[in-house]
Amino acid sequence: MTSLSPDLERARRDYAALVEQGLALDITRGKPSPRQLDLSLEMLKLPGEVYTAEDGTDCRNYGGLQGLPEVRRLFSGFLQVPLAQLVAAGNSSLELMHDTVVQSMLSKLPGAERRWADEPRIAFLCPVPGYDRHFALSERFGIELIPVPMTATGPDMDVVERLAAEDPAIKGIWCVPKYSNPDGVSYSDETVRRLAAMPTAAPDFRIFWDNAYVVHDLTDESVEIADILKLAEDSGNADRVFVFGSTSKITTAGSGVGFVGSSPANVKWLLGLLGKRTIGPDKVNQLRHAMFLRDEDGVRAHMRKHRELIAPKFEAVDKILTKELGDSGLATWTKPAGGYFISLTVPEGCAKEVVRLAKGAGIALTPAGATHPGGNDPEDRTIRIAPTYPELAEVEAAIAGLAVCVRLAVAEKA
Ligand code: PLP
Repeated sequence: MTSLSPDLERARRDYAALVEQGLALDITRGKPSPRQLDLSLEMLKLPGEVYTAEDGTDCRNYGGLQGLPEVRRLFSGFLQVPLAQLVAAGNSSLELMHDTVVQSMLSKLPGAERRWADEPRIAFLCPVPGYDRHFALSERFGIELIPVPMTATGPDMDVVERLAAEDPAIKGIWCVPKYSNPDGVSYSDETVRRLAAMPTAAPDFRIFWDNAYVVHDLTDESVEIADILKLAEDSGNADRVFVFGSTSKITTAGSGVGFVGSSPANVKWLLGLLGKRTIGPDKVNQLRHAMFLRDEDGVRAHMRKHRELIAPKFEAVDKILTKELGDSGLATWTKPAGGYFISLTVPEGCAKEVVRLAKGAGIALTPAGATHPGGNDPEDRTIRIAPTYPELAEVEAAIAGLAVCVRLAVAEKA
């Protein structure tokens, strides 16, 4: 009979003790915690009996398709979209991304030869690891997803440039340029410049610039991202970019304000189509946001309060992983300067098993593979950690348990 390795023996013992604890913890989704939502409680009392916007609009009534100027002004600088080219819409940027894809399917984009629905094949480049809802949205409309490796400075631009230049079916790319989901990568100026300027075989190629974490810093230094709309315009590709953002993780995730911005031609095209599905957005909610956040400094001050609540959770993840796995060579993980996620990389073929073991111990993790199109991480190595929602003590317990699962999964495999 072969005897067990000391590592495996210890890992099995630790895992049995972990299961004994009967934990019920969830670090699956990047949601703000109730305490974070409480930061905007005062906003819910607004606008009170005030219902007139700065331009005299009665916010209670129909109209104002592009959204209130005061709420657009709040985010025009952060999102790097000129005020006249920024739309404030409903409560979600994901729905704006969805609508932009659907409208591109059904109506010819500026510069397009055909509607996307009339193309024999549509593909998008997707940097991986990436955001599962971008993938699900694309798959829903039969858009083929072509993975592109992420680097420390954004997607591998040699790959992006080659593919975009040679294949006219490639109509777009998903980008989370700042504190990406899940790696926390911020795109370098060089990456942004190359995306804006690269030749594309499709005349109607679009960059879906999902700037979901634009003001979500975890350190004193906010990373500055190059201005993609301006760079695209300067390169003769003015219509290449759709910028998205929202206040979901600034105020209230279920009832924030979503934004889309682009070139004048794209905005005219989009508003013409959005006007067929709504007479105007929820301006009372937009007014409440403008009154509560006031100006850019107001947004920054509010985000510092979020940081006070969530930075300790990110620090705890790093501290516990360093203590439990730091010298083991069994895992690496990201230390993001902002955003909502930490990416944990385990040895090849182990991620699914780690997630399965964690589930068995009452720790819910995002399914392994969710960071890749089709839910398939070919190397089975990436696990997304979302530490914002649980209380600090719960995050600590979940990550300590996760480290046990990593040790056991790797030892069993060896
Ligand atoms: N984009 C990214 C990259 C996200 O991580 C998320 C939420 O986790 C969203 C968009 C969702 O945005 P919204 O709430 O504005 O629909």
